[in-house]
Amino acid sequence: MKTINIVCTASLLSLSMAAGAQNMAQWPIPAGPICEMTYVPAATRFSVWGPMAERARVNLYAAGEGDEPLATHDLVRSMDGTWSTQVSGDLQGKFYTFQLMYEGKWLDESPGIFAKAVGVNGRRAAIIDMDTTNPEGWESDERPQLNSFADVILYEMHHRDYSIDPESGVKYKGKFLALTERGTKNAAGASTGLDNLIELGVNHVHLLPSYDYASVDESKPDVPQYNWGYDPLNYNVPEGSYATNAADPAVRIREFKQMVQALHKAGIRVVLDVVYNHVFDVAGSNFERTAPGYFYRRRADGTLADGSGCGNETASEMPMMRKYMIESVLYWVNEYHIDGFRFDLMGIHDIETMNAIRNAVSSIDPTIFIYGEGWAAASPVLPAEQLAMKANTSGLPGIAAFGDEMRDGLRGPWNNDADGAFLIGRPGHEESIKFGIVGAIDHPQVDYSKVNYSQAPWAAQPTQMISYVSCHDDMCLADRVKATLPAKAKMEERIRLHKLAETAVLTSQGVPFIWTGDEVMRDKKGVHNSYNSPDSINVIPWRQKSEFADVYKYIKELIALRKHHPAFRLGDAAKVVEHLEFLPVKQANVVAYRLKGHAGGDVWEDIYIVLNGNRKAVKVDVPKGEYTVVCRDGQVDEAGLGIVKGGRVSVPAQSAMIFYK
Ligand code: CA
Repeated sequence: MKTINIVCTASLLSLSMAAGAQNMAQWPIPAGPICEMTYVPAATRFSVWGPMAERARVNLYAAGEGDEPLATHDLVRSMDGTWSTQVSGDLQGKFYTFQLMYEGKWLDESPGIFAKAVGVNGRRAAIIDMDTTNPEGWESDERPQLNSFADVILYEMHHRDYSIDPESGVKYKGKFLALTERGTKNAAGASTGLDNLIELGVNHVHLLPSYDYASVDESKPDVPQYNWGYDPLNYNVPEGSYATNAADPAVRIREFKQMVQALHKAGIRVVLDVVYNHVFDVAGSNFERTAPGYFYRRRADGTLADGSGCGNETASEMPMMRKYMIESVLYWVNEYHIDGFRFDLMGIHDIETMNAIRNAVSSIDPTIFIYGEGWAAASPVLPAEQLAMKANTSGLPGIAAFGDEMRDGLRGPWNNDADGAFLIGRPGHEESIKFGIVGAIDHPQVDYSKVNYSQAPWAAQPTQMISYVSCHDDMCLADRVKATLPAKAKMEERIRLHKLAETAVLTSQGVPFIWTGDEVMRDKKGVHNSYNSPDSINVIPWRQKSEFADVYKYIKELIALRKHHPAFRLGDAAKVVEHLEFLPVKQANVVAYRLKGHAGGDVWEDIYIVLNGNRKAVKVDVPKGEYTVVCRDGQVDEAGLGIVKGGRVSVPAQSAMIFYK
């Protein structure tokens, strides 16, 4: 995520609570699942956690906003730290908030920490029968088959970017339902929307935050508003602005499920971007309004720790927060059939919690994919060795982290958009590329002392590294290539380097990841951080799918090549060491390797891959023999682009070459 500057000040109350709580980790927590509202027609049970509260109550409302409460009921304290009551009568369609009293004062209302349905803008929870939110056929919805994490191909996207273009051909622009539409096309007849994902061949969509976030006013659907959504409000409810009606609590839930169902039918798994590491505003957060002082880490002086750069960091090591994260993830798996999770600033969370989440998810389905950003915006207050940082990935089995080594080895460093690297012909980044090619594992031919960020391998398995060159953060690839080339560089050169970068990503033994629109040369007009930029910056301009049909075809065929050839996705560190051999190259700014000996059972005996970042052709020595070329000079064709003889093979400038024996 990109940090959003929000000034968060802790309430004086929470500070005093924190100071007064000698050992919050000992506070009682419920043994069973967190269950704040249970509805049956005869009665509704309410329950909220707040062990140190003096009193607690639930307010019932007729609507999701406005008006006075219909009724208020006192809650009764239990030994497990929860407060609860049962209200008789059929409350379906009503809304509620909790309120807790500390030091003689009622805190502001909240929908609780685990609301499953909310009214507009998420301020009140809603009483609905979840069964009525299931679309037709939901009970037979199934995850598309996945044999190995090595087979995962990720496509990161934002609901609004993806379909808001007037030329998208999509009816429900910017909505969950956009991803249910089939047959959508741009003006030139090229597929868009869901059909574009199917055509491209990706098998996982990674949705930017789709839980209820704070920054878009859901009551103004006709006003163009934009945010990535890294400002969580209700973690367990879909965002209202992506629904056709944010005021009806069932609609966002049903439409989200329709989206998952349609993607599953298309063979595509769904990954949620989850942002448990911080909240939008501590004082106004549901956590702080129920158990002040508990859910956030503090520095020794009592001030809020800020590993997120957003004014706070949550305390995953606290028993209730850990329980909350595990149950929240399981809820999305069970209720919404979610297939994977991308943890924002995962380095803020502790290793024990992440491993507990992995184990809990695996007990339902071990093929659910989990990965995250193995870093934080600033140092969290927990010791580094306890955190799910990239360097600790080998201690997080079944969890992957983004590999920024190859990303920045290709495009240039994260902290200077104008600075290029391998792509623009700057030598010295070869080992960082090799690090990404092997999937961040220990490989005898990688000189780790020359890798940009990590002087040691950090993944135990190659499937623990996400291979990428661009994502929602920073410039997108087209902008970055343009920004690092001389101003006079032509589009033709930018396209060559765009393709070269995607080749490195899609032939890596890590798990490949594509940022939405890279396949159509989408740019953001050079904007580095577009978290709240208008549509004019963030939109995927679908006419470009036709204008850059050649780029699209290249990426699509690379994906197909990867899918057809297990050598590119060995999924096992020992196999990578055995079968992936780097070739000696004399020139700088060239990385060449082969996948040898029918790697992974591949029908091709030896596959050679050469990445050439130079502005001239280079020669690479390969054993004598006859090879079929499947990628050369910006073209991919699995059926063959011609034959080359072994010995000295010429690899065209600024491009990748792949050939096999
Ligand atoms: Ca919202």
